[in-house]
Amino acid sequence: MRILIANDDGYLAPGISALVKAMNGLGHIDVVAPEQNASGTSNALTLTRPLNVFRAAGPQQGFHVVSGTPSDCVHVALTGLLGQRPDLVVTGINQGANMGDDTLYSGTVAAAMEGFLFGIPAVAFSQVEKGWAHLDAAARVARSVVEELLALPLTGAPWLLNVNIPNRPDADRLPRQVTRLGRRHASEPVIRQVSPRGETIYWIGPAGDAREAGEGTDFHATAHGCVSITPLQVDLTDHAALGSWRSRLALAERS
Ligand code: MN
Repeated sequence: MRILIANDDGYLAPGISALVKAMNGLGHIDVVAPEQNASGTSNALTLTRPLNVFRAAGPQQGFHVVSGTPSDCVHVALTGLLGQRPDLVVTGINQGANMGDDTLYSGTVAAAMEGFLFGIPAVAFSQVEKGWAHLDAAARVARSVVEELLALPLTGAPWLLNVNIPNRPDADRLPRQVTRLGRRHASEPVIRQVSPRGETIYWIGPAGDAREAGEGTDFHATAHGCVSITPLQVDLTDHAALGSWRSRLALAERS
């Protein structure tokens, strides 16, 4: 069993060290993580400059550190950096929720998705609140979920799971619910400031609150004391609208 671990908070983040420790003994572990915090970089690949890779020292000893995005890390790992193909890609543990629309912006989900796109089963882990409270309990959840997944056959069609864990000391004893993604309200307004050099600068505002958080969603599950597990797919096609678009465009052509 070979497990590839990546994240988006950077190789020095507490979440990835906790995840690496949690996976100890489950197989051969490779860690390939971004040098900088790359949260919110989605599936970006670096195409306009080369990437440096170095081996970390100290507590992160042995981690491969990449001067790029989370998707770069997994892409480079799978296309030449690692000698052997992993059986599973595990990412996180992210600092903060990746629920609803977050999944489109998340580098944690994207790093897992990169594995999935290469045909490898993958799972992304996030803590619901920022600040790393009860990270040890979240790591126990990750361990137990991965142990369950490894009991399944890993051959056949790959899958992509998105796991969100409430920041609670008893997180590993909470029920687990298979959920669908909820939706968020639009982001808060941009924050305008004046830099010390007198330039007007803008900070992207925080994510909006949950808007669609009904029963069955990731928001609902985590708000009601459950670990949320959402199976994700990548096809963005609006299948339900195919027929109506065909007739609308055919009509437009005729008129
Ligand atoms: Mn992050």
